[in-house]
Amino acid sequence: MSASGNIGASRILLRKLREIMETGGSAQERLDRLVVMVASTMVADVCSIYLTRGAVHELFATQGLRADAVHRTRLKSGEGLVGLVAETAQPLNIADAPHHERFAYRPETGEDPYNSFLGVPIVRSERTFGVLVVQNRVSRVYGDDEVEALQTIAMVLAEMVASGAFGDLSGLAEVEARASRPEALLGRAFSDGLAIGVAVLHEPHAPLGRVIADDPVKEEQRLEAALAQIRDDLAELLHGDPGRISGVSRDVLETFSMLAADLSWETKLRHGVRAGLSADAAVERVRGEHRAKFNTTRDPYLRERLHDLEDLDNRVLRALAGVGGANAQPLPDNAILIARDLGPAELLDYGAERLCGIALEEGGATGHAAIVARALGIPMVGVVPGLLSRVEAGDAVVVDGERGEVRLRPAPEVTAAYQQRLALRDARNAEFARLKDVPPVTADGERVTLLLNAGLALDAQQLDEVGAEGIGLFRTEFQFMVSEQLPRLESQTMLYRDVLDAAGNRPVTFRTLDLGGDKVLPYMRAEREENPALGWRAIRIGLDRPGLLRYQLRALIHAAAGRRLRVMFPLVTIVSEFDAARALVDQELAWARKNGRTLPSVVEVGVMVEAPALAWSIPDLKGRADFLSIGTNDLMQYFFAADRGNPRVSERYDVLSAPALRLLKRIREDADAAGIPISVCGETAGRPLEALALTALGYRRLSMPASGIGPVKRMLLSLDARQAADWLEKAMRARGGARQRLAELATEGGVAL
Ligand code: PEP
Ligand code: MG
Repeated sequence: MSASGNIGASRILLRKLREIMETGGSAQERLDRLVVMVASTMVADVCSIYLTRGAVHELFATQGLRADAVHRTRLKSGEGLVGLVAETAQPLNIADAPHHERFAYRPETGEDPYNSFLGVPIVRSERTFGVLVVQNRVSRVYGDDEVEALQTIAMVLAEMVASGAFGDLSGLAEVEARASRPEALLGRAFSDGLAIGVAVLHEPHAPLGRVIADDPVKEEQRLEAALAQIRDDLAELLHGDPGRISGVSRDVLETFSMLAADLSWETKLRHGVRAGLSADAAVERVRGEHRAKFNTTRDPYLRERLHDLEDLDNRVLRALAGVGGANAQPLPDNAILIARDLGPAELLDYGAERLCGIALEEGGATGHAAIVARALGIPMVGVVPGLLSRVEAGDAVVVDGERGEVRLRPAPEVTAAYQQRLALRDARNAEFARLKDVPPVTADGERVTLLLNAGLALDAQQLDEVGAEGIGLFRTEFQFMVSEQLPRLESQTMLYRDVLDAAGNRPVTFRTLDLGGDKVLPYMRAEREENPALGWRAIRIGLDRPGLLRYQLRALIHAAAGRRLRVMFPLVTIVSEFDAARALVDQELAWARKNGRTLPSVVEVGVMVEAPALAWSIPDLKGRADFLSIGTNDLMQYFFAADRGNPRVSERYDVLSAPALRLLKRIREDADAAGIPISVCGETAGRPLEALALTALGYRRLSMPASGIGPVKRMLLSLDARQAADWLEKAMRARGGARQRLAELATEGGVAL
């Protein structure tokens, strides 16, 4: 052949396709004509279309295989080469099909003599509708141009299925066209709350009906305009106001700009348009290639580049849709953002006030997008398999951040039920608001201090809203993660001062930079590590590169002039690391003194208990650390040897289980014996049942996301702490697991959970 080896041939192919699409006749007739046309244009002995209905791939049309196999040959999901193509959603191009391990022989098709096989998925909007196959007797591998041509045809075919063009085909009702049925998808709750709204896709798709260009010249102009727009947007972001807090980092932008100027990328896009695709479809096809390569590439550098390219493809698609090349899309009032995954900077780019909910196909509960969503009070559900393939822009969506569920196109009764729940939530929130100024004292008189976890300047405003008594954990790395470049001394100082101002007399505990692990700064390329969570992170970086840490301490000391300063260090593992970090504080205090600066009125230096080794070193911290704070997110990840960001394992182990509870008990006892005040600041502290257990273990200072304060306070007001200690003892011995037993006992005991 080849059909698309030159642009003229591609255009002819697309024109023929369009003719078939637009001429009359039944759907079956059109499919039959299509396979004949493809076989002849591609000089193939066989061309077949398999469409997926339910769990089978059914032969719907063929040229070259036996005609009576049509609608008779059905391959189970995953069966045969066709199953393999559908499963991987990637082309399969092999010279010797009969000897492939996945080859499934079907005598009724008469396919014995065919050696070469090229199958491409019929996909649209992440949904696989079937597989398009060509086969030849001679044994050969098909050329790139042939693969591309077949993919283009598959794209048009997918479009036809999705637009319902084959509606009259018998049995095609089961071939899921545009999803229209209500669906409930289970995921995991990342950020509490309920949202009812409409889907906005972070990774948009070419609009239906726009695969083949009406006017290729106009399409090329559209593409040019979109490319120019994203280049302008990137330039503006790069050279615009450097103090802007939100936005991607400079390095990322520079990489983007470089890629945007990459001629081979542009050439590919132009090639698609000149071949007769619409600009949107050309971008989508290139994006499909990037994603497929991403899925099969292991090399981390290449993966990063492919990821950037895909991001760039998305920007062009958004620009084509007329919604701005940068991430800032004009959103509907009740926008629910749908994405595969989301970085914290991307989330902030959309802006809190413009999103009412977020649903992710992937993501991690303790990842920073989730933490930002919680800080902003946006309900979020993550790890929803199949989400992207089932939702379309504009679909009605409910994000249930209480149960970790996403409802697509809900029936009116379901929406009404959610509206009711939303009203109940509002009433509950009103109750929490009334409790705002009530001190958290248990029924038997135990005073518990409830503090806020924060990381953004806007979090500090929540202190008053929820009635927290201070900030127990201020994650200083957030500023670094959402900035375009390394924040300067002045902007660090300004942020810390703002936070202290907002807190007034209430204490604020600043945690020094906690980078590495799952927190990466794009502008500070760290060395790649096999095992980043166990690698060079947090205080380990701080001590090896003390410049950054000293700068931060200088900013903190300056911001706290004349006021109380509380600083703590993350992931200290052995006591000498704490001593070394504390020595840096002393050095910076000496520097400030020497330079005539006003010093903080009090300086307290503490440490996070996140590494099991430190949990067993508490007696040695006596006289050294002024306070301790348990970071349960990390402590549990290391204790259970289970990556906190990996949903496969992070939910496997429970903090409300005997081993974890014994550890937490031991830490509290050791801290008391050493006379060091201790608090808990992981996400655990913000859940009522977990907070009950912590209270039962003797913890009296809990720091949590804003959304946890009301529920935990309500629980505490109804709790008898001594009785809770008895319950916990019993629960730890229960066979069915401590969580369940504790919940039963607490419910029977009338605790408001
Ligand atoms: C923790 O590890 O529990 C913690 C509070 O710190 P971060 O979640 O920021 O790692
Ligand atoms: Mg931590």
